[in-house]
Amino acid sequence: MAPWTLTDALDAAGYRLTRPRRQVAELIADRDDHFTASDLMADARRRGMAIGRATVFRSLEKLSALGQLERVRLPTGEQAYVACRPPDAHHHHVVCGRCGRSVEVAGCTIGSMTDEIRRRTGYDVATHHVELFGTCPECLASGADPIPPSGHVS
Ligand SMILES: [Zn+2]
Ligand SMILES: [Zn+2]
Ligand SMILES: [Zn+2]
Repeated sequence: MAPWTLTDALDAAGYRLTRPRRQVAELIADRDDHFTASDLMADARRRGMAIGRATVFRSLEKLSALGQLERVRLPTGEQAYVACRPPDAHHHHVVCGRCGRSVEVAGCTIGSMTDEIRRRTGYDVATHHVELFGTCPECLASGADPIPPSGHVS
């Protein structure tokens, strides 16, 4: 596994690294796919770590604010998170709705739409957030039905 700097990021942001917060960072670093706060609570229980729900939520919020994690809303409506590796470049995540695998997509082209949006609406668009859901190649190869396209997620 690549070197992981979640605790470094928290430390650099002046976040006091208590033992439970360190443990939350460890649990996140061990996850490859998207995860929910409940997933982390279950991981903590399995590993015998005493971490409160509030600590998990606060750490997730903090790491999202620092750009280390990105929030994704699952097709079920659940709030999940994916780790950003690397966290600094602009990118999006595409998440498999069947198995939960995700990859980062670099080379965003949405920025090129902002001129057109400004022309139509008069808004100067500063930022955007895109959630991409579908079916990953592994699931397709194993014969799973692709998730049907829909106009709306959740
Ligand atoms: Zn990301
Ligand atoms: Zn999949
Ligand atoms: Zn983008």
